[in-house]
This record gives sequence, structure tokens and C-alpha cells, in this order.
Amino acid sequence: MNKFSAIKSPRRAADDLVISKVEVTTEPAGAPRRRRTSTLSRGMVAGVLASVLAVSGVLGWAATSLDGSEEMSSEQLSIELAIPEAAVLSVEKGFEDRSQAASRGAVRSNLTEAVAGEVAKDRDAVLDASVEESHKHEAEGSAAEREALMAADMELVKAQEAKLKKEAEAAALRLEEARKAAEAPSGGGSATSATAEDLAAISSSGGSMPVKSNYRVGARFQATGSWSRYHTGQDFPAPTGTPIYAVASGIVLSPTAGGWAGTNVVIQHSNGGSTLYAHMSKRVAGTGQAVKAGQLIGYVGTTGRSFGAHLHMEYYKPGVTPGKVYEASDPIAFMRSVGVNI
Ligand SMILES: [Zn+2]
Repeated sequence: MNKFSAIKSPRRAADDLVISKVEVTTEPAGAPRRRRTSTLSRGMVAGVLASVLAVSGVLGWAATSLDGSEEMSSEQLSIELAIPEAAVLSVEKGFEDRSQAASRGAVRSNLTEAVAGEVAKDRDAVLDASVEESHKHEAEGSAAEREALMAADMELVKAQEAKLKKEAEAAALRLEEARKAAEAPSGGGSATSATAEDLAAISSSGGSMPVKSNYRVGARFQATGSWSRYHTGQDFPAPTGTPIYAVASGIVLSPTAGGWAGTNVVIQHSNGGSTLYAHMSKRVAGTGQAVKAGQLIGYVGTTGRSFGAHLHMEYYKPGVTPGKVYEASDPIAFMRSVGVNI
């Protein structure tokens, strides 16, 4: 279910509501009113609001300390307490095209950003910051815009469906040939089209982590937040250039045509399922190539619709066309099924 697109209300009007609220609260009386709608990003609005909240919190506390809470009527107190909640609700109205969690996340990431300079000194901190950065940017643009882009991508995938199906069938045949050749008594003399590469690929059972060092386990499959509907794969934030390995052996198909994935590799596995590795800075496995589990297939990057270097990996069960993101399954479950301890 798409809870984002289900909400339909005039976004522009709600934005203006929040902006004017911020202006009234922060600018001195008589100051020239400037129209900030076009220059203030939502993140900035959230930041300003966060400061306003902090200031009103402090003032509220100071007033209570000076006056003594006994002297404030319960009505006054409830008004004081109601301010932050009302403000938060206003922000959420302004961010109506996202979930409440994402709206709060935007405010939180802005606050986090303020101290990022202090903590981003070692490698771990840099990785964490890149996760924050990617979420912050993914949150920009409306759900409707993201949905439209994905709809266009799904059309592209649909257009290449027949071609991918043929490739997958050919790959399955090759893997079957290789299996037969490997099982045949040596020197049997039967003609086989299996190449040494094919034989090597089917000889490697088991699985591999797609990234082996310098990475984080990021957003999970079906997480909700800044995505068009939900997160359709597993993220591994890692620096650009981090090697990416095939999770299981198989044959490389044509990359998905979906523009979101940027430079990507799709591998058809012997179980009939397939994996997709997105946002690469470079791919080093060519279409039609047989690869072993753990073989280098490319490098982490941030191509396609990605903000911040990370590997986004998807898994498709047998019969599902690679790239049909809304029919993808949990990559972690597949990794575990081939023996990867994650
Ligand atoms: Zn992802």
C-alpha cells in the first residue's frame, strides 16, 4: 500500500503556512517580509523550527522558574506544553507527503548535521555521516515526483522484459550444461558448450557477502521513509570504490533499464533467482559472463537515483523479471539461504 500517495492535499499551501509561521515567530516586528518560499529548503525550515522550539523551550522553562509554577494557571501550563506539539504538527503538515517518521527524521538529521563536523573525524563517523546525508537527500522531492520517476522506470523494465527472459533461459541452459559436463565421467567425449568459466561458476557453491570491508548494513528491505513506496532492497553504505562481489555464482544478464539503479549488474543464479547490484561507480562483469560466488563484479558508487555512496542490492525469486522492484524479495533471506552469515 502506498501511504504517501494516498494523502492528497495542497502541498504548496501547507508549505506557505509553515513558512509564514516561521517568519512571524523569528522576524522582528516591522522587518521587511521577504518571500522565502523559493529559497528555503524544507531542511532549512525544519532547522529554523528546531531552533524556535529550542528557544521557546528555554523561555518556557525560564518563565516557569521565575514565576514559580504554582503561580501559573493550569490553563497557561497546558498552553506552554501545547506549543511544541502544535509546532511539530505544523511541520508534519508541511511535510505531508512523507511519513511522520520521515518528518521527524528530517528535523533530527538537521540537528545531527550541526554536530557532524565534530564527529566526522574517523572513518566510522564518515560512514555514519554518509548514511545521514543519503537519507537527507532522498527525502527531497515529493512522493508524487518519486512515484512518477519509478513509474517511468518500471515502463523501461517492462520494455526489456522479453529480452531478459530470453537471457535468463539461455543462462539456465548454460548452467545446466555445465552441471552435466561436471558430472560426466572425465574423458567421456560428449560434446559440451560449457566453458571453463561456466564450469568454475557452477563448481562454487555457497555464497559471499557483496561487500567485505569498510561497509555498514544500512536500510533494510521494506523499510519505509524516504522511498517512493518502501525500500525494495538492502543497503550497504560504503565508500566509493569499495569492491562489490557476486553473492552467489551465476551468469550476468543485461543490466536493468531502470534509471534509478545507475550502473548496475544483474546475476541469474542456478536456483532460478537473480540479484541486482545498483549505484556502482564501475561494473567489471560483462553481460553473458559466468561468475563465481565472491567474484569481483564492480565497485561501490552513487550513480542513478542515489545520494551518498552505497550498494543497494535486490533479490528476485525465480520467475520474477529482474528490475521489477515491487516484486523483489528480501536479499538478506537469500544471502542466508546460500550460507552467508549476516
Ligand atoms: Zn537502497
